[in-house]
Amino acid sequence: MTRTMFVTGAANGIGYEIAKAAVDAQYKVGMVDTDLTKLEEVTRHLSGTIALPADVTKPVSVADAFDRFTQEFGAPTTVINNAGIVRFGMLLDQPVEDFVDTISVNLIGTYIVAREAARRMAEGGHIINITSINSITPGPGAGAYPAAKSGVKQLTRQLAIELGPKGIRCNAISPGFIDAGMSAPIYADQKVRQTRSGAVPLGRLGTAADIAAAVMYLDAEAGAYVNGHELVVDGGVVHSLLNQLPRD
Ligand code: NAD
Repeated sequence: MTRTMFVTGAANGIGYEIAKAAVDAQYKVGMVDTDLTKLEEVTRHLSGTIALPADVTKPVSVADAFDRFTQEFGAPTTVINNAGIVRFGMLLDQPVEDFVDTISVNLIGTYIVAREAARRMAEGGHIINITSINSITPGPGAGAYPAAKSGVKQLTRQLAIELGPKGIRCNAISPGFIDAGMSAPIYADQKVRQTRSGAVPLGRLGTAADIAAAVMYLDAEAGAYVNGHELVVDGGVVHSLLNQLPRD
């Protein structure tokens, strides 16, 4: 059976790496993004992919992208909700629009795509939502992002219980400190890079390829009974609080 994957936010960073890993594993891949120039460029270089320009916050745009995907590859079997944004700033100072946009893309966009996907997965399937360790712990100046990502985590569990009876699994992956995509500018600062990699028990920042590997691992046949799970891919950093507070 040909495996198919619909990946949102696939023109850059982690989403691109997920699409690439899926192509390497012989999936047919629909790459969704609002960054049309980059989308055109990456799909030209990755065989077995199609460009699906769409905005995940717009139900009609998402339905059109799924129509195009289905015409080309048939019903989607795996859908990755990866599109996301972060708007840094203190909650008291940020314009409300930053809060609304962050919830809209990360949380509502994930719902819109999952809903449209599940309606088309007549033979079952798998939805993976990319959250963040900010679904577990808030971060400095992270704005609405932790609220949005913990919402995605709970949405994943709700989808898992509603869609399980239709043969559709729904899981989440929570990346930690990833040296790619939206965090690349943060880790361009050598001091931040050093402090943060030093705080990770595995002693390094994560890569987009680490997250792509986790997607393929969860989507494999061996994961067929995993449903409603949050797979934290962070080198152990969320558990390292007491490491930062040493005692004699
Ligand atoms: P990125 O900015 O490189 O990629 C995000 C992609 O989503 C971009 O291509 C962007 O154009 C697209 N996008 C944004 N809004 C969209 C919309 N409305 N519709 C369709 N596409 C849209 O960021 P990334 O670091 O690769 O992030 C990918 C996912 O991983 C996000 O959900 C992010 O929250 C999550 N994440 C990233 C990190 C990290 O450190 N990079 C850590 C934890 C979680």
